Amino acid sequence: MTKGQQQYEGKAKRVYATDSPDYYIVEYKDDATAFNGEKRGTILGKGVINNQMSNRLFALLAAHGVANHFVEELSERETLVRAVTIVPIEVVVRNLVAGSMAKRLGLEEGLELKRPLVEFYYKEDSLGDPLITAETAEVLGWATADELQKIQELALQVDAVLREFLKERGVILVDFKLEFGRTRDGELILADEISPDTCRFWDAATREKLDKDRFRRDLGGVEEAYHEMMTRISEV
Ligand code: UDP
Repeated sequence: MTKGQQQYEGKAKRVYATDSPDYYIVEYKDDATAFNGEKRGTILGKGVINNQMSNRLFALLAAHGVANHFVEELSERETLVRAVTIVPIEVVVRNLVAGSMAKRLGLEEGLELKRPLVEFYYKEDSLGDPLITAETAEVLGWATADELQKIQELALQVDAVLREFLKERGVILVDFKLEFGRTRDGELILADEISPDTCRFWDAATREKLDKDRFRRDLGGVEEAYHEMMTRISEV
């Protein structure tokens, strides 16, 4: 599969066409942004880790029946994926209170939820990705009621699979963000990435943060945390 024209450049990835309309090549960068692009930096080696970690986790999810865009790792930073049109909804799943939920509701980080919570945010940087209801997405035509139902179920299934996998590796899955897309024939599949950029990972013993919060909050040891997570995920 040859790499064609760049289709899109996001904050952490570039997407290229291939010689088939059914496939794209994703290239992961080391660029890091936070607070809706206000804070910028570089996390050395992040692109390699996010590529390899996403692929490992997408393969795990596929083995558990969660259809996703991962096809084949092409190089340290490049992966062949199924081409999709992204649904403009950021799907956040939370197991513990953290980040924007703690802030919005005045809650302490680390509070355990009675059960996993699925939230929808409108994927629009210029608005700061506002929280929306499923009904909002439906009446605006961003996704059908059936798709939203499926997204909710898949998000909870992803949570269950990843939570268990990470627990065995001494990691608490606090929360994470997913994106879904539609293939040319309308199939809804999981896409984007699953990495320390898009998840909160806490060490189960020490509660040390092993994710992008180290960059967001200037905690230091950013590269080390990404490497530590890659090592844990590579354990069999
Ligand atoms: N998240 C993400 N991209 C976003 C917003 C959130 O990947 O644009 C992830 C984030 O890393 C965390 C989860 O989604 O694992 C929940 O994020 P939250 O709503 O708490 O927002 P944040 O505190 O990151 O602004």
